[in-house]
Amino acid sequence: MKLSSKIHLYSSVLFASLLLAANITVYFVFYSLTIEQELHALAAETEQAAEAIRASNNPLATEELLRAYVPVSGMIRLTQEKAGGRAGLLVTTSSETALSEQPSAYSPQRIVEKVQIGQRDYGYASIPIIAADGAVANVQITKSMDELTSLLAMLRLVLIVVSIAVIIIVLLSSGLLGRLIMRPIGAMTRTMKEIARSGKFVRLEQHAKSKDELVQMGETFNEMIGLLENSFHKQEQFVSNASHELKTPLTIIESYARLLQRRGLERPELFEESVEAIRSEAVRMKGMTEQLLLLATPNRHQEHERNVIELQPEVEQAAAGFRRAYKRDIYVQASAEPVHAYTNADQLKQLLFILLDNARKYSQDRIDIELERDSHHSLIRIKDRGIGIPAAELPHVFERFYRVDPSRSRDQDSEGGTGLGLSLAQEISRAIGAEIVLTSEEGKGTTATLLLPLPQQE
Ligand code: ADP
Repeated sequence: MKLSSKIHLYSSVLFASLLLAANITVYFVFYSLTIEQELHALAAETEQAAEAIRASNNPLATEELLRAYVPVSGMIRLTQEKAGGRAGLLVTTSSETALSEQPSAYSPQRIVEKVQIGQRDYGYASIPIIAADGAVANVQITKSMDELTSLLAMLRLVLIVVSIAVIIIVLLSSGLLGRLIMRPIGAMTRTMKEIARSGKFVRLEQHAKSKDELVQMGETFNEMIGLLENSFHKQEQFVSNASHELKTPLTIIESYARLLQRRGLERPELFEESVEAIRSEAVRMKGMTEQLLLLATPNRHQEHERNVIELQPEVEQAAAGFRRAYKRDIYVQASAEPVHAYTNADQLKQLLFILLDNARKYSQDRIDIELERDSHHSLIRIKDRGIGIPAAELPHVFERFYRVDPSRSRDQDSEGGTGLGLSLAQEISRAIGAEIVLTSEEGKGTTATLLLPLPQQE
């Protein structure tokens, strides 16, 4: 069942039952109260008539008294005990002459009750008296309740008509309410289906000016679609960048391989050049695919386990590796006090590797690494005296695949760069709560500063 139909059904059924219960209660309370009141009045009237007959000294005037006390629509009679319960004197109104046919009976008890004669309701009161002449009798009044019955019938009718009218209104308005709630949800479902069908990031149209929950839900949905679209475009850009960047080395390799195929045997001097070009492009591609894989690893954003680590041994180890592999002068200077940081050793090593690799690729002189701490961080500074980065390029070097004038890096380093190192470094540093700050002067050199969190317990 549709949600709107459920809202419609439940709210209508609930309201209708409550309304019926309330109206039925009102009717029956009113019914019993009015009947009780009517009988009470009848009892009082009968009492009055009995009193008058009791006080009357003249038995001949009794009939006159009965005539005086006959109800507007009904009968009054005197039922003698002696006569075996048969009515002695009896007076009826003209409309109720049929009542005189009713059998009578003497009762020593006072009776006040509602009785049914034929299809009609009557009030009946019987009060025992001892008349002035010593005779024991009942003054009995039977009074028609037609007026009350028609009043109650009118009340019944009013309540039924009102109930039906209210139920119709409730049915209509709960249907409207269901549709009102369902409209934005339906629009959202349609938009989602449209997105699934077309692959386009469609937004919900928001017309409502109010800020109710449904409008907020629509806005949140649009924000979410915006985020998805953004990340989808980034992903798309990344894939197209990656394939573009991989195409260049592959084209170079292919063209050198062709050259070798055609002329390799005739011109041996080409052999050396081609093989070197193929090797260096292959190495570049290898580096790029490794970095791409790292960037694409799904759990790369997850929190890495962090510990308190002394930085000097880590830095010395990384520097030693680079000294040995690239035959470069790398100096580590540390403050007298050991410098600690709260970080992840593996991720730190990778960061050092990327920053040292850049320092080595874009410089030829010595590289200095400084270790110190300030009031907020532990710092590792990697200083080179190389070609530097132009100020205008500095804000872009953390973007994926961004390379400052690729030809210039190739001159420095036969392997060339991928433009991925710093973007990867930034992702890693974010994951371990660190920060990288680059300062550079073109032609003079670059300083990459790694700011690491201090040990927490300090
Ligand atoms: P790449 O693989 O090209 O080195 P990076 O993301 O590590 O990629 O660096 C992006 C660009 O920033 C590089 O192409 C380079 O021009 C510039 N760069 C990075 N570090 C240095 C540095 N220490 N000295 C000079 N230029 C640098």
